[in-house]
Amino acid sequence: MFHGHLVGLRIPPRKPQSPQTATIALMGRNNRTQTNGAPSPSNERQLNRRERMAEIIERDGPYCVWCSAPLNLTLNPPTTEHLVPRIKGGPSWLENELAACKRCNNERGHQSPASWIHDCEGMGRTPRVDIVIAALERLQNAITERGGIRRARPYIASQLRRLRKR
Ligand SMILES: [Zn+2]
Repeated sequence: MFHGHLVGLRIPPRKPQSPQTATIALMGRNNRTQTNGAPSPSNERQLNRRERMAEIIERDGPYCVWCSAPLNLTLNPPTTEHLVPRIKGGPSWLENELAACKRCNNERGHQSPASWIHDCEGMGRTPRVDIVIAALERLQNAITERGGIRRARPYIASQLRRLRKR
């Protein structure tokens, strides 16, 4: 049985037995919104910032996408990272959001994922390249399904090319 506010709970580095419990514990909430299948843009708007972060953590695991540091509400709180920066035409969809530590998020600025991953590796960090590639593919599929977001399409395609040939 879940007890609220298990902030600081240690989550195993590999697939947690119960991702949902881990997510809830991380976010310190016990009434997480249930969704069936992929959320649509219309029901995403009903999720508040915490609920959106809980969805991201459940999808990708509680680690910074740029340095793999464990994210933890008290010691290393997650921040929302836009895969395609908003100024590059990135949509405000869950598919364009990743979890990152505050340090990496601040330092990245508006750099592209491929270029920032290169910098992170140069600084001895361990970016989650597979998660970034999966996110780019998911975003590309969402754009194909929903339409629009024209400006971000070539950006996403070129990022995928750069990351896949590494
Ligand atoms: Zn980080």
